[in-house]
Amino acid sequence: MEKVQTDRRKFVAYSTLAMLGLVLGGGMVLSPYTLRAENRLRPPGAVPEKQFLALCIKCGQCLQVCPYHSIKLADFVSGHGVGTPYIDANERGCYACSAVPCVLACPSGALDHHCEKPADIHMGIAVLEFPDTCLAMNNTPIHKGYNAKMHDFTDSVRNVTELEEKLLTKLDSFEGKQCTLCADMCPLENPLSAIAMVPSANGGNKPEVYDGCIGCGVCQEVCPTNTPSIVVKPRVTYAAFYANQN
Ligand code: SF4
Ligand code: SF4
Ligand code: SF4
Repeated sequence: MEKVQTDRRKFVAYSTLAMLGLVLGGGMVLSPYTLRAENRLRPPGAVPEKQFLALCIKCGQCLQVCPYHSIKLADFVSGHGVGTPYIDANERGCYACSAVPCVLACPSGALDHHCEKPADIHMGIAVLEFPDTCLAMNNTPIHKGYNAKMHDFTDSVRNVTELEEKLLTKLDSFEGKQCTLCADMCPLENPLSAIAMVPSANGGNKPEVYDGCIGCGVCQEVCPTNTPSIVVKPRVTYAAFYANQN
């Protein structure tokens, strides 16, 4: 739990600095970051954002039990809701553990205990935001070293779990192949309910998202393009996003 302790220490340090800034400014200094209403990807089972911010006691229990180190605590630099847990899908998505341990660990109701299995998770919806850069659509194989980011992330964690090691081995096996990463790494028991590779108009393939997507962010994490071609829109439903697209 070293990483968690480090996160907590960073949080305390940032909070202290923040308070100092406010005091020195006679209460007049407000960071633009605190004013930025960020739309974060919250852990599984998170209740609506306003309620979430009111209920979360910032105890860090959810991140302590996450075997993929997917959950982080927001610091002063990264926006509002300082100390609340979130998921940065560019770094590490949620792997939708079958027993959803983060929810079980939450003592406050910020993560709703009715969320008992992956199918109950509704974090957001995946969207092919940048189809022009998608390797599959351009018939471009996955370049060697695309997985350096995931290796670096794992190296930064002290208590690497067996699940994380297995994940790296699986990711390494994609190097040099045609890209199907987003579809093949979708962690759901039935990934085809969420995403599939389908023929695209230019003769390549493209990922297509379905209403089984839970918005876990794994496809965004593993997408090998510089800026992920596929991203998750937090707290948006399939119906709300795709209603106007079809
Ligand atoms: S376990 Fe619940 S109360 Fe504690 S930090 Fe996580 S969401 Fe907040
Ligand atoms: S991971 Fe998916 S969205 Fe990203 S390049 Fe590969 S096929 Fe395209
Ligand atoms: S499509 Fe992407 S965001 Fe949706 S469940 Fe699969 S990996 Fe998660």
